[in-house]
Amino acid sequence: MSAPTSESEGRRFRAYTARHLEELLTRAGLSPEQRLRARAVATVLPFRTNDYVIDELIDWDAAPDDPIYRLVFPQEDMLPAEDVSKLAKLLDADPKGPELKAEVFAIRRRLNPHPAGQLDLNKPKLGEADIPGMQHKYPETVLFFPQQGQTCHAYCTYCFRWAQFVGESDLKMASNDIDALVGYIKAHPEITSVLITGGDAMIMGAPVLRRYIEPLIQLEQLESIRMGTKALAYWPQRFVTDPDADDTLRLFEEVCESGKNLAFQAHFSHTRELAPTMLHDAVKRIRDTGAVIRTQAPLIKSINDDPQVWSDMWRKHHTMGMVPYYMFVERDTGPQEYFAVPLARAYDIFQEAYSQVSGLCRTVRGPSMSADPGKVAVDGVVEINGTRVFVLHMIQARDPKLVGKPFFAHYDPDAVWLNDLKPAFAERFPFQ
Ligand SMILES: *Cc1c(COP(=O)(O)O)cnc(C)c1O
Ligand code: SF4
Repeated sequence: MSAPTSESEGRRFRAYTARHLEELLTRAGLSPEQRLRARAVATVLPFRTNDYVIDELIDWDAAPDDPIYRLVFPQEDMLPAEDVSKLAKLLDADPKGPELKAEVFAIRRRLNPHPAGQLDLNKPKLGEADIPGMQHKYPETVLFFPQQGQTCHAYCTYCFRWAQFVGESDLKMASNDIDALVGYIKAHPEITSVLITGGDAMIMGAPVLRRYIEPLIQLEQLESIRMGTKALAYWPQRFVTDPDADDTLRLFEEVCESGKNLAFQAHFSHTRELAPTMLHDAVKRIRDTGAVIRTQAPLIKSINDDPQVWSDMWRKHHTMGMVPYYMFVERDTGPQEYFAVPLARAYDIFQEAYSQVSGLCRTVRGPSMSADPGKVAVDGVVEINGTRVFVLHMIQARDPKLVGKPFFAHYDPDAVWLNDLKPAFAERFPFQ
């Protein structure tokens, strides 16, 4: 394969992008027509992967049905068939043409690039000024999107932050203004936790990470610093053999020594990602710094919509010393229709997996929807006075008074998201 070695931050991974798709899709056994249609999808949604994912994680004999193949490679039915046909025709005629560009732009706008009102609703202000690259939705936690962290080692096809990666700046959140972040936190004593996210926080090299994290260590009010990342799944070398692996771990130690919790929020989609020895070494080294690794992932049709995958994942995480944290419902953005699992089915999968693991793994919560009003968990389906309802509660809420209180919605086997639900036994939902 002709992928170049990338020397970003002195690291030696080979990056595969849309330029390599034709060759890789051929390897997966796709016909010329199928390859063109998959490449057409990749004009709209970002594609990127690396040699670790290609060589260690994907089972090429099982492609294109292999779950890890499906996790990173564009699928032709991720977009409406007529859109794909149009894109394929334009791509075939002129891959650099203005017509293709215009079509791509229009389709992206139809994919709800920023779900849950994230660009407008959670924007923090300092005085009169908007602070870019931050979200403050729940009182105790602020999200920070460092400019250098807005990419990932590989892209998940279902990514809810895909708009960050397509190079259209008005779709993007990012900041390198650490002073603004620190100023904002000081002005808000209720903030006890900062989540550095992206993209992938661990795409940043140690010196850049240090610039962001050191000022946070000084803030007494902070109890935890969280890193949102899929690097353990897509590039565990980051913590073992990369030139700045040791410096990074030293920084984690400094956070822990300062008396704060370094919460490492690791995204794992499938048990396959847990097999390589490199991952086990990485987890051990991170844990040795005193950091706590918590795991989370969305439930995705055709990738991990199987209770066995989840119970195996949670068990394995637990055995490795990681703490299962969230199972998310796929968000209402990008190719949601393609990946969505109905809430009723999501609940069944969660319940079946949860029932098979020890109490020590039952730290996990879900299935949870990160929606406008907050994180809403589906707790079950019951019949009350002849009415079949979903039992729900808010794990997180803009209004903290609503956290943990149960409420009901009419059962609907096809509902995939909060806005498909109708309140039961009440005029409106508590958050309305
Ligand atoms: C999930 C989330 C958080 C963190 O919530 P926890 O329950 O503390 O993990 C913070 N901000 C936003 C916008 C979130 O979606
Ligand atoms: S790791 Fe997270 S941010 Fe990166 S592509 Fe996957 S879902 Fe998106």
